[in-house]
Amino acid sequence: MSERRHMSWFKKKNQRIESVPAEERRVKTEGVFEKCPECDAALYKRELEESLHVCPHCGHHFRIGARLRLAILYDEGKYEELDAEVTSNDPLDFVDTQPYKERLEQARRRTGLPEAVINGRGLVGGHLVMASAMDFSFLGGSMGCAVGEKITRNIERAIRARASVVIVSQSGGARMQEGTLSLMQMAKISAALAFLDRARLPYISVITDPTTGGVTASFAMLGDLNIAEPKALIGFAGPRVIEQTIRQKLPKDFQTSEFLLEHGMLDAVVDRRELRDWIVRALDFMYNPEVHFQPLKPELPLGNGAGTLPEALLGSQDEKPEEKSEAEPEVKS
Ligand SMILES: [Zn+2]
Repeated sequence: MSERRHMSWFKKKNQRIESVPAEERRVKTEGVFEKCPECDAALYKRELEESLHVCPHCGHHFRIGARLRLAILYDEGKYEELDAEVTSNDPLDFVDTQPYKERLEQARRRTGLPEAVINGRGLVGGHLVMASAMDFSFLGGSMGCAVGEKITRNIERAIRARASVVIVSQSGGARMQEGTLSLMQMAKISAALAFLDRARLPYISVITDPTTGGVTASFAMLGDLNIAEPKALIGFAGPRVIEQTIRQKLPKDFQTSEFLLEHGMLDAVVDRRELRDWIVRALDFMYNPEVHFQPLKPELPLGNGAGTLPEALLGSQDEKPEEKSEAEPEVKS
C-alpha cells in the first residue's frame, strides 16, 4: 500500500513537469503544418499541396500516393480508373508472422487502394495516355501477380488504342509473399513493353522515391525515356548488400537520381512541379503528326485489357483486308 502511494507520488510529479505530453502537442498542429525533413522548415499543408508536395524552400520531394500522382499527370486532373477489380488472391496460401490474406486486407483498409498500382486512362496534353502509378504505402509498392497483370493490361490497352504509356514506379520490388510468381511479372511486363515498342508507341518511365528490386530490374528502366524525380533512391539491391558482396566502399550519393543521370542510366531528372509539362513536351515530340499508322485491329474493344494480344498483333499481318458489308454502311459524322 505504502509502495503504491510512493509510486503515484512520483508519477504525479513527472506529469506536472511535462504539462502537455509530446504526442498531444504534435496533434494540435498536425492538420496545419508539415515539417520538411530536409531543411526543417515548417510548411503550411495547403502551401505544400499547392507546390505538389515539394518543399518550396529546399525542393525536397515528399512521397505522394498513386491517385494524387495520376491527378497531377492528367489534363485537369481527370482520368478514368481501370482494372480496380484485379487484386491479389494469395496463390501460395502464404503465412509468415501473419497470413498474407490478412496483410492484403489491412493494406486495403489503411490505404483505400485496391492494390499497389492504380491504372488510369485519360488525356495528357491532349494525348491519350494509359498511366499506371505505383504506391509505396500499399505493402511497400511490391509487385505481385495483380500488379503485373494491371500494368500489362494497361500496356495492351495502349497498343489497341494507339495510346502512350506512362508508368510511375515507387516500389520495394517483387512481393515476397507471392514467391517466384512475383518474379515472373518482370518478364510478363517486359514482354508487353516489347509489343508496345513493335507497335511504335511511346513509353515514358517515371521513377520516384524509392524504386528498387525487380521493378528497377525490369520495366522502370525500359522506357523510351527514363526520367526520375530529384534525389530519389533508385537501385536493385541495397547499398549494404552490395558493399558486402563486392567488398568495396560505395561512392557518396550512390543510387540517387543524380548519380544515375551522371552515369548514363537516366535521361533526365525532373522536378515534380515541371514533370507534367515535361511529359507533354516529350509526347508532342514523339508523336509525329505526319506519320499515320493503321491500327492493326481497329475493331478490338478498347475497354478490356485482358486477352490475346500477341495473336491480335501478329495474326493481323496475314489477314486479308476486311470486306465491307452492305448491311453495315460506314458511319459518317
Ligand atoms: Zn525543405
